Amino acid sequence: MYEFVRGKGIHLYDRYNKPFIDLISGIAVNNIGHCNPEVTKAIKDQVDKYSHQMVYGEYIVQPQVQLAKNLAKNLPSNLQSFYFLNSGSEAIEGAMKVAKKYTGRSKIVAMRNAYHGSSSGSLSMMSNEYYSGPFKPLLPNIYFMDYNDLDSIEIIDERTAAVFIEPIQAEIGYLPATQEFLNALREKCDKTGTLLIFDEIQTGIGRTGKLFAFEHYNITPDILVSAKALGGGMPIGAFISSSKIMKSIEDKPILGHISTFGGHPVCCAAGNASLNYIEKYQLLDKVSEKEALFRKLLVHPKIKKTSGKGLMLSIELDNFDEVERTMKRCMEHGVIIDWFLYNTNCLRISPPLIISNSEIHKVCKTILRSLD
Ligand code: PMP
Repeated sequence: MYEFVRGKGIHLYDRYNKPFIDLISGIAVNNIGHCNPEVTKAIKDQVDKYSHQMVYGEYIVQPQVQLAKNLAKNLPSNLQSFYFLNSGSEAIEGAMKVAKKYTGRSKIVAMRNAYHGSSSGSLSMMSNEYYSGPFKPLLPNIYFMDYNDLDSIEIIDERTAAVFIEPIQAEIGYLPATQEFLNALREKCDKTGTLLIFDEIQTGIGRTGKLFAFEHYNITPDILVSAKALGGGMPIGAFISSSKIMKSIEDKPILGHISTFGGHPVCCAAGNASLNYIEKYQLLDKVSEKEALFRKLLVHPKIKKTSGKGLMLSIELDNFDEVERTMKRCMEHGVIIDWFLYNTNCLRISPPLIISNSEIHKVCKTILRSLD
């Protein structure tokens, strides 16, 4: 088994100082690479000021305010209210509770083959019994529909509090939602008073070439959930909505959703520095060009299909044996690559957004060699 002792940019290094190109960003977390000096400085500066104080709303926690402002300037008017937590799963739990409280309804609709986290609430939205079965009973009143299937939409009705969807379904092998499907979902949610919740935990913070993937579709969710790359490598999660929706958890009961460490100041400072870095170096502008280069270079008789969007790509091989063999060979040649939870025929590519064109040439050569 490999052990990495340090990281720099797109590389992780083992104890013999052998560099490995990180093509998964652990997963979709290190969007600006490892040990970015501006993020490291922000962490150190914040630790020198204070690392923690009570975050239940009594005091102003400036790093949280800064991170919220930084995100808000890039988000539409109905996504200006922020609730910070510590992880993706926690943010999903929060979004689910808010949706129930705001609508006064309990039915939740999720997509088959989604992954929203491992806590009991988020796990309840996992359709695959192999993963959820041993932990039952989970939450009741969860219904599943098929991704990109217009006919399934009829399951959403006046009793539905929320629909959860990843705009690019990750663990099935980076499957993008169709425009038609998201339009129809938005329309049905509007008609039934259901909240449309986008899980952008993996797609967010620039991975698809926009800050959030919903921007590709010209529709807006009612609640947006972020985590992973949001903290620039530090643990944080958030759900974001209108203040009208967010206010529904303000009272009755008081402290209806709290977390001791939620929106930890050091993590917020890191997240802020990371957002500033993405903006300063205009990293989003270059994502589609890098995607095109990957797609152009990854041509091989064994590659059946390349899917995904931006720097969130999957390549489909014949079977898991091929996937496992290719992953092993890539590792031997210093490239870290991964597979997917529900689609074992595909290899996952989600490098730091800072990967250069010449580094893309290099890793694609290694992948093609490993396939031979
Ligand atoms: N949603 C999606 C789309 C994810 O990819 C993940 C993490 N893989 C989660 C939710 C859960 O996030 P966390 O592991 O931070 O709880």
